Amino acid sequence: MPDDMVDGHIRGVKNALSAGWQILDRGGSALDAVEEAVVIMEDDETFDAGRGSFLNRDGHVQLDALIMDGATLRAGGVGCVEHLRNPVRAARKILSESPHVYFVAEGAEKFAAEHGIPLCQNEDLIIPREVERLRKYQEQNAHLGSNSNDSGQVGKDLFAPEISHDTVGAVALDRDSNIAAATSTGGTLNKAPGRLGDSSLIGCGCYADNLSAAASTTGWGEPIMKLVLAKWTADRVAAGNLPEWAAQEAMNYLQQRVHGHGGIIVLNREGQFGIFHNTPRMAWAYRTVKKQDAGIVREG
Ligand code: ASP
Repeated sequence: MPDDMVDGHIRGVKNALSAGWQILDRGGSALDAVEEAVVIMEDDETFDAGRGSFLNRDGHVQLDALIMDGATLRAGGVGCVEHLRNPVRAARKILSESPHVYFVAEGAEKFAAEHGIPLCQNEDLIIPREVERLRKYQEQNAHLGSNSNDSGQVGKDLFAPEISHDTVGAVALDRDSNIAAATSTGGTLNKAPGRLGDSSLIGCGCYADNLSAAASTTGWGEPIMKLVLAKWTADRVAAGNLPEWAAQEAMNYLQQRVHGHGGIIVLNREGQFGIFHNTPRMAWAYRTVKKQDAGIVREG
């Protein structure tokens, strides 16, 4: 996250937090709260979700999202959608109204349209900042050939601002002691068309089970999905670890096992939570009945 985007990120996560909190405060469900929080961030061009997302190699926005209900284990996911402003809304419809769990590409868009979600043009999701970012990236990496994408990057380039990771996610606990999680992303810069990351895969970028924890991850998706990291973390909470420790352990595991980088938010049914990242920065915000805070660096 470059310096000039810090304020936008903090504002964005605080707006998402207040949207989610409003729902919880009036007795709404954790599922509704995470959906609304994520919608706010999808609508905010600051983030790599919805409009303003990173572009793929062909200059298109291609979006993935997942939402999961810890009470019932119902889940809804969409992958590689190009005509939805709020993929998490489509994911929620799948969770609530389909016997299936996961839809991709045109099939996901068709499902969304049939369930009252308006489709948009892909151009409606593209902003000049991202056209320029892709242009620069492709110019600087022309020597890597047309099959390159950032999943092959090593060394210092991993932390270059232009290939930062800006997926959005939310976890929540409601008055009925149910937890939920949602994650939404435009994926990684210059990704190959059709590439799916961790974010919308159950247990990788998002997971929720009342018996363990709700978790949402961000970061370099390929390493995260190899470790099924959100489920790995939830399992550690189920085994008796505090979410705070599980979050930290998850990031250490990601780094040590597959040289991955990213961040995670984790919450259990008791309202204990962890926020951790092994990147220089990750925007976060939380609220409990007693306290609220937000920032861009968090270690524990
Ligand atoms: N995890 C996402 C992906 O690989 C990217 C991100 O977190 O920003 O698609």
